[in-house]
Amino acid sequence: MAQSSFLGDGKAKRESLGSVRLTRAEVAKHCTAGDCWVIVNDRVYDVTGFLDEHPAGRNIILLHGGKDCTKEFLEVHSEDYILAFAPNSFVGCLEGSSALAPKKPANVPVHFDSSKILALKRNVYGDEHEAYRASFRTFLQKYVQPEYAKFEAKGVVDREVYSKMAQEGFYLTLGIPSACGGRGLDWKHNCVVVEEVEDLGCGGLFVNLGNDMVLSYFTESCTNEQRARWLPKLRRGAVIAVAMSEPEVGSDLGQLSCRATPSPNGGWTVNGRKMWISSGAVAELTVVACVTDPTKGAKGISMLVIESEMPGVSCAKRFGKLGKHASDTCLITLEDVHVPRENLVGEEGKGFQYMMQHLPRERLSIAVASMAAARRALALAVNYVHGRAAFGANLGTLQAVQQELAKIRTEVQVGTTFVDRCIADACQKQLSAEAASMAKFFATDLSFRVADRCQQLFGGYGYLKNSPIGKIMVDQRVTRVYGGANEVQLEIISKGLGFKPQRASRL
Ligand SMILES: Cc1cc2nc3c(=O)[nH]c(=O)nc-3n(C[C@H](O)[C@H](O)[C@H](O)COP(=O)(O)OP(=O)(O)OC[C@H]3O[C@@H](n4cnc5c(N)ncnc54)[C@H](O)[C@@H]3O)c2cc1C
Repeated sequence: MAQSSFLGDGKAKRESLGSVRLTRAEVAKHCTAGDCWVIVNDRVYDVTGFLDEHPAGRNIILLHGGKDCTKEFLEVHSEDYILAFAPNSFVGCLEGSSALAPKKPANVPVHFDSSKILALKRNVYGDEHEAYRASFRTFLQKYVQPEYAKFEAKGVVDREVYSKMAQEGFYLTLGIPSACGGRGLDWKHNCVVVEEVEDLGCGGLFVNLGNDMVLSYFTESCTNEQRARWLPKLRRGAVIAVAMSEPEVGSDLGQLSCRATPSPNGGWTVNGRKMWISSGAVAELTVVACVTDPTKGAKGISMLVIESEMPGVSCAKRFGKLGKHASDTCLITLEDVHVPRENLVGEEGKGFQYMMQHLPRERLSIAVASMAAARRALALAVNYVHGRAAFGANLGTLQAVQQELAKIRTEVQVGTTFVDRCIADACQKQLSAEAASMAKFFATDLSFRVADRCQQLFGGYGYLKNSPIGKIMVDQRVTRVYGGANEVQLEIISKGLGFKPQRASRL
């Protein structure tokens, strides 16, 4: 954090900071896209972290990185509000002024974060995971957070971010075995990546798509020759995607129509459309589910790796969405695309089986992200109600508010504990499909409800475009749909009770 250049370890008490005098030129150095310092009444405040905690977030105080946003701030709030919400933000006073350190507000608000909000200490991670978390958090703060608003506006994350992440061991390389030139880290590291992305409000950076949903097709289902061909690309952070869904078929994957017809010179000619493909606009390699034998139903589906430069592949449309603005979601069309036999993943006709094999971990990854989002929503709301003046005290003194947050906290704790147990099972290769479906169903259903209830406590601020809590709510809404709609998860769970899914053929 930039503060350290003036404040040593940054932990000095605010009272002693009144003596720190700063020139305007020094303050200006901290008005880059990644830093936001404001000068109010000749006092300097670092509101960088505050941007993601303020109920209106960047909407009010920082419209564009690197610009002086004091005026926007003061149009809405008084100086007291900074300290009520970000008690450690005071940096010092302007040189030459007679300003003194600000007085502590009478009600110093609490500062919960996503880990302090829980009642039980999580024990799924070890020291190595926490060290990795700290380094990834620093990475995100340095390279992603400052650019995030730009990615959201463009609707896509720059490819360079992925390559930098791969280089540092946060994208693909973490899961590539060391024998293949990767870091070979255990899957808990993937979960740490997912949690940190959510915790820093960058959930649209759909990093678990590559790490948890696509990479395993290359590392677990491909031949050695294919790995030798593709892993160098993946090690340098190529964007990868998976295309299962089609415009006419999403949940019922056995009914796909994208057709791969055998071509006379070996390989296939592929024709079809793939719908909702995340990262479809930028992916270099896409694992595509195709029908190679229409007479065999689900057993006639194969997975083919389609390369973006193959003639006939095009991103026909990029969809505008309610949330997850930084990730692109596309319609991909495939017109007479020639795919050589070497691009078949594993064995012909086993595509459906591979999808079912890889989906449980994909679903758990979605659950991990959703629980992280729920914890963040709760922490934001608790901090807010402690600081929001109301009825002669603050919102947090109202019993109805306390009880609502107590209920949410209990549900978030239960969800976290269950999902943590699934993470541990996944790392022991013992994650069952039904447990993964339970985690996905429970966590995604919960995270949306939690975000909605927390948003209520923010009143009007929660409804502002880009308010951190509002963004959690819209982003979480889709998690009940993708990765398999939650109703499909319930079918998988009920199979364990001896029920068969209701199908027209059985009615
Ligand atoms: C933002 C986003 C990103 C996505 N990324 C990808 C991607 O990268 N790759 C990819 O292949 N797909 C992706 N998808 C597609 C996603 O997996 C599908 O949307 C999902 O599987 C549901 O399919 P569908 O939309 O066709 O809905 P349908 O299958 O038409 O279902 C509609 C609704 O019907 C209900 N329903 C469905 N089946 C059942 C059932 N058995 N019992 C009871 N009710 C049921 C559910 O409420 C469901 O939401 C993405 C989707 C979105 C929105």
